[in-house]
Amino acid sequence: MKIEQDVALSRFTTLGTGGEARAFARPQSLDELHEALRYARSHELPVAVIGLGSNLLVADEGFDGLALKLVGELAQAEVAGELLVAGGGAPNAVALHRARAAGLGGFEFACAIPGTAGGGVWMNAGAYRSDWAAILERALVVDGEGWANWRTPAELGLSYRHSELRHGEVVARVEFRLTPRAPEEIKTIVADLQVQRKAAQPTNKRTFGSVFKNPEHELSAGRMLEACGLKGHRSGGAQISPRHANFIENTDGARSADAIALMTEARRRAADQFGVELRHEVEFLGPLELPPLAK
Ligand SMILES: Cc1cc2nc3c(=O)[nH]c(=O)nc-3n(C[C@H](O)[C@H](O)[C@H](O)COP(=O)(O)OP(=O)(O)OC[C@H]3O[C@@H](n4cnc5c(N)ncnc54)[C@H](O)[C@@H]3O)c2cc1C
Repeated sequence: MKIEQDVALSRFTTLGTGGEARAFARPQSLDELHEALRYARSHELPVAVIGLGSNLLVADEGFDGLALKLVGELAQAEVAGELLVAGGGAPNAVALHRARAAGLGGFEFACAIPGTAGGGVWMNAGAYRSDWAAILERALVVDGEGWANWRTPAELGLSYRHSELRHGEVVARVEFRLTPRAPEEIKTIVADLQVQRKAAQPTNKRTFGSVFKNPEHELSAGRMLEACGLKGHRSGGAQISPRHANFIENTDGARSADAIALMTEARRRAADQFGVELRHEVEFLGPLELPPLAK
């Protein structure tokens, strides 16, 4: 397997920002994944997996480590009985297609989530009152030392947009338990959800999905930031979506620093106006952080 050097990660994120990874590999099988992890150990590099980069903000300075993109058999999906078995890098759209063709329902909500099976485990992705935890049977996790073990949702510690997975651990395979449902019914459910999604969110813009987790408050993060007057607020080439205030759009050659500036301002205003400390849902890769809120 080829290990590439200095690969631009902006090509691998939906926002389209960020610098280079020092090393980059595309393992196609468990054997190649082990080979990549051995490379990282021998070069003392941290490891990060990139799914479809749909919840990822990469530092403009890049990532001084080995970035992995799971491909080949690690990105395929198939059905075995009532189990949907997906490689960690399998796009949700592919997994949903396989489930529908086999007449298995329960994964329809994932049509709203433009990521991978493994990325969904990492943050217990969810939409429309369902999430990975509700359908996940188990996930095969390979750690930095090369140890592989199957973990149940409880062992993964899944909760709202959170798992207990640690950086460097790779979700190589995922099994979902689904229930029989007619393909036509699945098609109708998916079409309905997609109409709802298009009406509420900027689906045709470069974004990374929700910026902040919803706080414990009567207002969602989006409504709160809207009330702070942030819709359309700009920094450099990025803006807070005029459609949904919990989304940041790359409108004109944005840098990750522009997204960080918008997030910093959003957190400051939510704290000032609502006394709420918003926590980011988007994952950071490389040297990125939000400044602490002034007390
Ligand atoms: C338009 C839009 C709408 C969205 N709507 C939703 C929504 O409704 N609900 C929702 O939950 N999310 C939503 N998202 C966010 C995103 O799609 C999900 O979080 C998705 O699960 C991320 O998957 P990914 O493969 O793209 O992961 P990435 O963004 O590539 O990575 C995210 C994190 O997961 C880790 N990771 C990825 N793959 C693996 C793996 N195989 N093993 C270990 N770690 C891994 C990465 O290292 C990183 O820390 C939306 C995003 C967009 C752009």
